[in-house]
Amino acid sequence: MEYKAFFEDALGRLKAEKRYRVFVDLERDAAHFPYARWHRDADTTEDVIMWCSNDYLGMGLDPQVIEAMCTAACRHGVGAGGTRNIAGTNHPLVALEAELADLHGKPGSLVFTSGWISNLAALSAIASLLPDCLILSDAYNHNSMIEGIKRSGAERQIFRHNDLDHLEDLLKAAGRERPKLIAFESLYSMDGDIAQIGKIADLAERYNAMTYLDEVHAVGLYGRRGGGIADRDNEMDRIDVIEGTLAKGFGTLGGYIAADLPIVDAVRSYAASFIFTTALSPALAAAAQKAVQLLKSESGAELRTRHQRQAMLTKHALSAAGLPVMPNQSHIVPVFVGDAERCKAASDMLLQRHSIYIQPINYPTVARGTERLRITPSPAHSDGHIAHLVEALVDVWQALKLPFTETTGNVVAFRREADDAHCTFPELVKKAAE
Ligand code: PLP
Repeated sequence: MEYKAFFEDALGRLKAEKRYRVFVDLERDAAHFPYARWHRDADTTEDVIMWCSNDYLGMGLDPQVIEAMCTAACRHGVGAGGTRNIAGTNHPLVALEAELADLHGKPGSLVFTSGWISNLAALSAIASLLPDCLILSDAYNHNSMIEGIKRSGAERQIFRHNDLDHLEDLLKAAGRERPKLIAFESLYSMDGDIAQIGKIADLAERYNAMTYLDEVHAVGLYGRRGGGIADRDNEMDRIDVIEGTLAKGFGTLGGYIAADLPIVDAVRSYAASFIFTTALSPALAAAAQKAVQLLKSESGAELRTRHQRQAMLTKHALSAAGLPVMPNQSHIVPVFVGDAERCKAASDMLLQRHSIYIQPINYPTVARGTERLRITPSPAHSDGHIAHLVEALVDVWQALKLPFTETTGNVVAFRREADDAHCTFPELVKKAAE
C-alpha cells in the first residue's frame, strides 16, 4: 500500500466536501481579553477580537487564577509525576475535588484530564458495572458521551432530542426492574437549548432509572454558585452523576464527575481511562480551584449577570439587523448559514476584513445543511464590540449574498437612527429589542 497517498486521499475527501479544518494561529492576550494576536503569516501579526471562545467568562485570563497557577507551579513543579496509582495524588487535586463536590452538593467528586475523558471513563465504568444496563441517550449527546456509552458494551437506545414523551416510552418498555441510565446534557452547545432537568428527574424516579447529566457548557455560568443549570433549577440533589469541565466556564483544563461516594469510588477503581493516564498537574488543579471559588462568590454572580446581559444584547442586536440568529434560551448565539463552503467563507471574511475571529461550525459537529457561525459573547465584550460585530456580519452577509431574515433591521439605517435619537447604537438596538 502507498501509505502517504492513502492519507492524502483521506484529506482530499474532506477538502472536496469543504469541511477540511484549518486552525488559525492565535495568541490570546491575557491583559486584553477578548483580543488576541493573529499570526497572519511568518512575518505579520494583527490584533483580532475573539467571538467564539469557550472560555465563556474569561476565567483563563483572570489575574487571580493566573497567580494561583504560577504559585502552585513554583511550589509543586509543572507536572503531576505520574498516574494517581503510581505517584499518589498531589494535594491541590484533593482540594479541587472537595471544592467541586461542594459546588454540586455531592459527597464526592473525581477529576480527570479533560471533560471528554470524564465522560468516556464514567459512562463506560458505570454502565458496564450495572448488570444488563440499558442506556437511554439523548440524540444530541456529545461525542465523548457516545464514546463512553459504546465502550461500556451496554445496550443503548436513543431518545429524540429533549423529547420526554419518547424517553418515557422507552423507560416504560424497559420495565422498572431493569437497570437503566438516562444520559443527557443540560445545555446543548451548538444550538444553545436547555434540557428540562426536573422533568427528566421525575421520569427517572417514576421508572427507577439512574441519571447522568453533562453540565459542561453550564458550569460556572448558571446557578446561584455556578453549579450549572441543575443548580439554577434546584435539581442537583435529584441527579445521580453530574459531569463537568474545568476548561470552559472555569477557564483552565480538566474534567470531573460529582456523585455519591460509592459511584465516585467505583469509577476511580474501574475506569481504565482514569487509571492508566497521568493525573492533572497540581498547577492546573490550583488554578481551577481558584476559578471555582471565584465563581461561587458574589463577584462570580455579578460576572454571570454581565455575561447574560452581553449575550442577550448580542442576540437582540444581530436579530434586529436581520441576521438569522437561531433562537434559544442560553448564552450561545448561533447564526445560521446552512452551507459548509459559505460558512467558511464568512469566517474568513470576518477575519480578513473586520479582524473578528469566529470559527465556522460544519459537519460532523452539526448536521449537514445546518452549518453556522457560533458566537459566544463574554462579559469582556463591550457594547461597542457588539455594535462592531453587527456591522461586520451585515457586511459579510451582503458580500456573500447570504439571506437576511424578514426583520426590517438594516445596520446603516439603524446607526443613522441612533445618531438622530442622540443615543448609542447599542442603546438603540436594546430599545428596539425590548
Ligand atoms: N461534553 C460536552 C457536551 C462538550 O461539548 C465537550 C467539549 O466541548 C466535552 C464534554 C468535553 O469537554 P473538554 O473540552 O473539557 O474535553
